[in-house]
Amino acid sequence: MTKIEPQPGIMQIKPYVGGASSVNGVANVIKLSSNENPFGPSPDAIVAFQRAAHDLHRYPNTDHASLRAAIGDLHGLDPDRIICGVGSDEVITFLCQCYAGPGTEVIYTQHGFSMYRISALAAGATPVVVPERERMVDVDEVLGAVTDQTSLVFIANPGNPTGTMVSQAELARLARALPDHVLLVLDGAYAEYVGGFDGGARLVEKYDNVFMTRTFSKMYGLGGLRIGWGYGAAAVIDVLNRVRGPFNLSMAQQAAAEAALRDRDHVARCLSENTRLRAWLAEALAELGVPSDTSCANFILARFANSDEAAACDTFLQEQGIIVRMVAGYDLPHCLRITVGDEASCRRVAHMIGRFKGGAPGSKLMLLDEDRREEGDV
Ligand SMILES: *Cc1c(COP(=O)(O)O)cnc(C)c1O
Repeated sequence: MTKIEPQPGIMQIKPYVGGASSVNGVANVIKLSSNENPFGPSPDAIVAFQRAAHDLHRYPNTDHASLRAAIGDLHGLDPDRIICGVGSDEVITFLCQCYAGPGTEVIYTQHGFSMYRISALAAGATPVVVPERERMVDVDEVLGAVTDQTSLVFIANPGNPTGTMVSQAELARLARALPDHVLLVLDGAYAEYVGGFDGGARLVEKYDNVFMTRTFSKMYGLGGLRIGWGYGAAAVIDVLNRVRGPFNLSMAQQAAAEAALRDRDHVARCLSENTRLRAWLAEALAELGVPSDTSCANFILARFANSDEAAACDTFLQEQGIIVRMVAGYDLPHCLRITVGDEASCRRVAHMIGRFKGGAPGSKLMLLDEDRREEGDV
């Protein structure tokens, strides 16, 4: 009898666990566990998706030319240097498949997004985790971990689940200092939440060994449809396109993404609501003795006294029909990641954390006043 064995590394992968979306016995849950846009996608994207239903018998195009042109147009990028994938997760997979492998090392940081480890192991590479400083990426730690075997460095900016950002100057210093044989991947899944931030695009233009990934899953509210993209040097894009399935994106995905991209009013509304409610939620929780770092994304990393308190709060919230995200797997056992929902959800989660902490519910928590609308911009 033959003995079939997976490739080395595969059995080390712990399958990705998505944010829960139901609680036993509770109807009408509030899901704040997956950083989804509480306002959903642009109505134009829904119309485009429905229209695509009439052509389901047709194969999609293989080059995503129209979507890439729209992305390039919006961001001032060369469409020929853009690649589209089934979520940015697929672009991350392509990067590991093409550049990492047995004998190479893939660097990411202590609280880094879990797909980096999964994709590195799937490619047979060795994951190398570097410490962060107070939930912030430390460029010197990253540089100190680079060896001749390093193939890729993944940094999400803003980070998930920390919500913190590496400054432009620090990012530039990292890009400049990395040796030529290392590809620096800047994951800009939350870049749309940061006013004036290009996600790293200018660094991609300056250095052939810098790459940027982006997604339609967060600000554009299309997580369920799975569309992401990457921007890099022409030579890197050429490499990635060789492993990309020709029909990786359906016409429905491409059409909805393009429509979502063009609805700037929707994006502006979602951005301003997120900024307003994020500031309110962070302040409300801080007043309850639950601090968080200033978040640059669409969630808050709430810090509790210890892991027991965080776990107890998570259980309590679930009993109230509110699902947030435990992040012990990200080496943050004393924290809960809470997506900034709509106003009612923010009020409810703050109110219930107040109940959990034993603070008097009401008073300040009920305030969502004009004064605070201006705060919290990053
Ligand atoms: C959500 C997220 C992504 C996006 O994944 P998709 O596959 O595009 O849905 C990528 N990176 C980080 C850090 C994320 O939080």
